[in-house]
Amino acid sequence: MVASGWSLERELPTELTVTEAEFLERSRTWLAAEREMSYLDGLAARSPGEFFGIEPRFSRRLGEAGLLAVTTPAAVGGAGRSHLEQALLAAELAWQRLPVLGHFVAEREVIPALLRHGTAAQQERWLPELLAGEALCAQAFTEPDTGSDLVSISTRAERDGNGWVLKGEKWLNSVAHVARHLWTIVRTGGPGHRGLSMFLVPADAHGVRIERLREMTGIERMNRIVFDSVRLGPEHLVGPLDGGWAISMDTVARERPGAARPAGVRRTLAELAAYVPAGGSAPLGEDPAVAPRLAELDIRLAACEMLQYAYARDLDAGRADPDVAGITLKVYADRIEAELADLGTSLLGVEGLLDAEPEAPLAGILARGHLAAPGLSLGGGTTEILLNVLATRGLGLPRAKDRG
Ligand SMILES: Cc1cc2nc3c(=O)[nH]c(=O)nc-3n(C[C@H](O)[C@H](O)[C@H](O)COP(=O)(O)OP(=O)(O)OC[C@H]3O[C@@H](n4cnc5c(N)ncnc54)[C@H](O)[C@@H]3O)c2cc1C
Repeated sequence: MVASGWSLERELPTELTVTEAEFLERSRTWLAAEREMSYLDGLAARSPGEFFGIEPRFSRRLGEAGLLAVTTPAAVGGAGRSHLEQALLAAELAWQRLPVLGHFVAEREVIPALLRHGTAAQQERWLPELLAGEALCAQAFTEPDTGSDLVSISTRAERDGNGWVLKGEKWLNSVAHVARHLWTIVRTGGPGHRGLSMFLVPADAHGVRIERLREMTGIERMNRIVFDSVRLGPEHLVGPLDGGWAISMDTVARERPGAARPAGVRRTLAELAAYVPAGGSAPLGEDPAVAPRLAELDIRLAACEMLQYAYARDLDAGRADPDVAGITLKVYADRIEAELADLGTSLLGVEGLLDAEPEAPLAGILARGHLAAPGLSLGGGTTEILLNVLATRGLGLPRAKDRG
């Protein structure tokens, strides 16, 4: 392992091969240079893990540099990199606080789904623009009356000749306002799991209406999507008719570990640790209780990073259960991030509540993180639901409804 202060290198809890180390070094250099470009000026980290930034120009630049969806096989135009290399790149993006949410659904959900379930024609049509970062995607799963209980969705696709007509409403859909495609689950058959199908819907199709939603953080990152009799050709159905449930579960299993961003949280922890001795209005460095609490978060972050790299190596070796490992990572990382925001704002006192003011400690990142924290345990599946899945899948306990 390489040692260098608070840098990511020192924290890497895994030995790298020469190829992996070279890939990391090249990516790191490219990203650092890009970080200096003027279009990224003034980009403030919005939460300790900084997952929320959407910058389509950056997504496109990543695509041009071959740094988007890097595990995509070379045979279909991808970089053919390992999951470990993807994890190294993701950690570096988080550490440098670069915006990844814009292309996240394309990278982690739609490209892998097309590779597994798409026809050759669908892959040929959509993979190039997705890999190039030109076409961003949004996940359109949640509906006003259906969140955790996804199987109850009511948006429908009805037969129209050899195509389809979509009717219904989705909401809380991140990125939809800049997306070219909506990765959508709809009902094509009767009630229950077996009547659901997946569609890749053009966001500019006639009858698609997208309205932005403002969160308590002030960010307008989520949307409401209305499908008002949207006509689609047969090529927009991805995977088997009425076979969408398994694809949607595979999608969220791949989404969760990617949303864990311990390297970004580590950076915020490092900044807080550097700020504490200076202390703002409260002499935090003199409080003997502060240092051990920060040290404990440091230990938990190190464990989380170890899990992340171990999971990537397991995926490369074909050993991982993406669902169980992904849930473990997501729940663990979310908790650490929320705790850091909570601890940080309480340590910083009233100044910790400032956001865009010049006096705001750490440029307001902990204040914003505090407001964003409740969303961490909702997006990608709520913590309560995920812990129940872990209890049954991981520990072999009876399902919640059978536990009485
Ligand atoms: C930041 C963020 C980004 C999001 N991005 C997207 C997106 O891009 N695309 C998209 O489609 N959706 C997105 N969502 C929506 C997200 O998937 C839903 O919020 C989530 O599925 C929970 O659904 P709900 O909000 O309706 O809450 P509910 O499902 O109504 O849950 C409310 C509460 O009840 C608990 N609960 C519900 N059922 C059970 C149970 N069986 N056992 C124990 N507890 C239970 C939950 O844990 C939760 O605490 C996003 C949400 C957030 C916060």
